[in-house]
Amino acid sequence: MKKFNFGKNLTAGALFSAMLLMPLLAFGQTRIQMPKNKYKIQDDIRIGQQASQEVRQQMPILNDSETTRYVQEVGRRLVNSIPQQFQHPEFQYSFQVVNARDINAFALPGGAMYVNRGMIEAARNEGEMAGVMAHELSHVALRHGTAQATKMNNPLNQILGVGAVLGGAVLGGQGGAQLGQIFAQGYFTRFSREYETQADILGAQIMADAGYDPRDLANMFRTIEQQGGNGTPEFLSDHPSPANRYATIEREAAMLRVNNPIGRTAQFERVQSRLRGMQRAPSSQEIARNAQRYPNGQNGGQNGGQNNPMANGRYSSRVSLPSSQYRIFNGGGIQMNVPSNWQQMAMSQSEIWFAPDGAYGDQGITHGALVGFSQSRNGNIDQMTQDYVEGILQENTYLQQTSNYSRVNIAGRQGYATVLQGRSNVTNRNEVTTIYTTQLRNGNLFYIVTVSPQNEMSNYDYAFRNMIRSLRIND
Ligand SMILES: [Zn+2]
Repeated sequence: MKKFNFGKNLTAGALFSAMLLMPLLAFGQTRIQMPKNKYKIQDDIRIGQQASQEVRQQMPILNDSETTRYVQEVGRRLVNSIPQQFQHPEFQYSFQVVNARDINAFALPGGAMYVNRGMIEAARNEGEMAGVMAHELSHVALRHGTAQATKMNNPLNQILGVGAVLGGAVLGGQGGAQLGQIFAQGYFTRFSREYETQADILGAQIMADAGYDPRDLANMFRTIEQQGGNGTPEFLSDHPSPANRYATIEREAAMLRVNNPIGRTAQFERVQSRLRGMQRAPSSQEIARNAQRYPNGQNGGQNGGQNNPMANGRYSSRVSLPSSQYRIFNGGGIQMNVPSNWQQMAMSQSEIWFAPDGAYGDQGITHGALVGFSQSRNGNIDQMTQDYVEGILQENTYLQQTSNYSRVNIAGRQGYATVLQGRSNVTNRNEVTTIYTTQLRNGNLFYIVTVSPQNEMSNYDYAFRNMIRSLRIND
């Protein structure tokens, strides 16, 4: 079965829209409670190290010692201002600059932070840059990555197994999901609004302690908004709105006292003009295009800028059965069991395919499944389901719809299932494709499509049912 591009692709972050509580206000400054976390400190460190390795493979680190040293210096000042109860001496905070144009930054569990060059260039002063860094440090100090995994109830070895990074980028959306495969690998967990608010508040406190005006964190969100380019900044979709953010930070700042805050510094201006004088940094999308590779790092890794990760696949008449071992796929707000011998391929930031070796190639997949989500035009699930199925039929003319739409339960919500069948040109056998759809809280369509030759269905039935039964959608 071949791919069908349905409507506008969404970024992984668009799944999230949960409204969560704000921390309680206390005198002096807001008291922040460490979220519940079943993981050990060492787990944060291991996850972060593994993820950091991946990041270095996939993102160009800026090789400019003056800039890096400066960012590290600001970073250390902030780290020293993390309140004692949130300090974890085992964590190793490190700071690297990514040579990417987008205004963004993210930090991994255990303390590795990556600041985009574009963020430093966009900031109006050192305080704004420090604000974003303080926000990201707060996610690390509050262990939001593993706290989020605690909520999702993931066993550690499975987090490590899939390389889920559990880091939070300062921006969601296009800018936040740096690479297509980030969705595939569950690279960035989108933090809940509750965690974002916590990071803003703790970030403000850290800034004040380090001698910065906490309002600069809020100012940076305005700067981002102004420079965000085309219309609505994407981080609106999964982060608190800038207005709310601003209000929260202002409220906190009013309770914090900073005399003579650090604003523009000569060092900042020197580094900024240095960066502006360099060759233009590539955008995240350009980086992604140049670095497309198999998400699991197999099949030779790099494949020379191919956009379609399926293109390197080879069809085989002998495809191994779905493994009885499952791993947990966790990314883009969805979690699901997947046979451990299936490769995963990000087809876009909103769609991922799973297939064993020998079952994928330039004609799509012959055995396996795909999941994705798609933006609603009218919020009508019946219509969207029909549109999606028609698109699949148009792209795969050998298929015909052989069942009505039946009502099914998907991730605890109502949905539809329908079956398409036809003789595949690749296998020369009758193929059975089942399309499951349901709706996200924000109205968008979520779909899972399973594919196998009819005469092998009994071997695949359990795997498909396990995927669907285990599916959880965090929206
Ligand atoms: Zn954040």
